[in-house]
Amino acid sequence: MNEYRAQIPHGGRWGLRARRLFDGEVFHAGAPLVVVSGGRISAVDLAGSGVSPGLPIVDLGDVTLLPGLIDAHVHLAFDPAGDAVMQMQADPDEVLLQRMHRHAQAALRAGITTVRDLGDRSYLALVLRERYLAQAQAGPEILVAGPPITVSGGHCWFLGGQADTPEELAAAVTERVARGVDVIKVMATGGRITPGCKPYQSQYGRSELQLIADAAHRAGIPVTAHAHANPAIADAMAAGVDGIEHCFFLTEQGVSLDLPTVAALAGTGVYVSTTTARPPGELPADLAQARENFARMHRAGVRLVCSSDAGVRPWKPAGRGRQPRRGPDRHPPPHGDLPGRTPLPHRPTILALTRRRARPSGTNSRHLPGPAGPRSAI
Ligand SMILES: [Zn+2]
Repeated sequence: MNEYRAQIPHGGRWGLRARRLFDGEVFHAGAPLVVVSGGRISAVDLAGSGVSPGLPIVDLGDVTLLPGLIDAHVHLAFDPAGDAVMQMQADPDEVLLQRMHRHAQAALRAGITTVRDLGDRSYLALVLRERYLAQAQAGPEILVAGPPITVSGGHCWFLGGQADTPEELAAAVTERVARGVDVIKVMATGGRITPGCKPYQSQYGRSELQLIADAAHRAGIPVTAHAHANPAIADAMAAGVDGIEHCFFLTEQGVSLDLPTVAALAGTGVYVSTTTARPPGELPADLAQARENFARMHRAGVRLVCSSDAGVRPWKPAGRGRQPRRGPDRHPPPHGDLPGRTPLPHRPTILALTRRRARPSGTNSRHLPGPAGPRSAI
C-alpha cells in the first residue's frame, strides 16, 4: 500500500479497486470497488462496474481488500519496553496521553482500525476516543474499559480500579457507567506483570463476579473478565460475563485444559480473547500448549477473538510502527497470532480478526486509512 499513498486523494470522493475483497464474512472476486467519501467508506460495488465518470480511482491490482482489523485487547498507556508498575505511578496524565496517542497511531498504521483498551489510568482512553471521534482520521476507533476492577493490591491495582466489598464493586460499576465506558473489565485472577500476584489464583468469587456482571448488564454494558485459570474462568462464565481474556487454563504446575469448561464456553457463546503473541526465541512450553488449546477450543465451537495485549511486553508493541519487518530484530505482528503464526487455519483467523459476529462489542462505521494511514490490503 505504501507505494500507492501518493495517489490517495486527501478528502473528497474517490474509489479503491483491487482484484478481491473480503467483506468481513465472504470473499468476493471480480475487481470490486470501494468508494470513499470524506475518509469513510460510502459504498461498495462488488461487481466494480458502476463507476461514475470523473471518480478518481486508485487501483491496487492483485491484492485483497480487508476491513480494518480489530485488536480486542490492548493497553495504549503501557510502554511495552517499560515497567508498567513504575510508569503508572511516575508518569503524569499528559505523558500517558502522548504515549497512548503514539500507540494508537502505530496500531492504525498496522491496519488496526478498532482497538479495545482494556486498562488505562484515569479513564484517559476516553479522552482519545472522543478526540478521534471528532476527527475520523486522527486515530483508530477505541472501545474503552477504563481502569479494570481489581482487589486491593491485586492485578493492575496501580491503574486505580481497586474494589473489594459488594458496595465498592457496585460503586465501581456505577462510576464506569457514568463515565461512559464501552465495556467493563474485571480482574478475575491475578496476572503476570503485577508483583505479588499469581495468575492461577482467583481474586473474586462467583457471587462478586455476578454482582459486577448483573450491574453492568442492567446498564447495557458488556463485561469481560481477565481470567488465566480455572476455576475463575468457570466462575466468570457462570456469573454471566460476555467474554474471557487470556483463558490459558493455567495451573500452578502449568497449562491444563479443562474440557467441561471448554464445552460450557462453547455452549454459552462467551467469547475468548486470546492475547497471544510469540515471544522471541524458542516458544515456552506453556505458551505452546496454550496455542494448541486455542485450536482445540476453536474446534470445540468456542468463539475466539484475536487480541494482542499490546503494551505489556517488549514483543507486544502497539502496531508494527517503525519496527523492521524482516531480520532478527523483527517483532511479530501486533495483533497476536495472525495468519501464518497460529495453529488455526488462515480463514477462521481472518474471520476472527474482522467479522462482526466475532466482535466483542458493537462498533459503528469503520475508519479508512488516510494518505499516511495503514495498509488496507494484503
Ligand atoms: Zn491486558
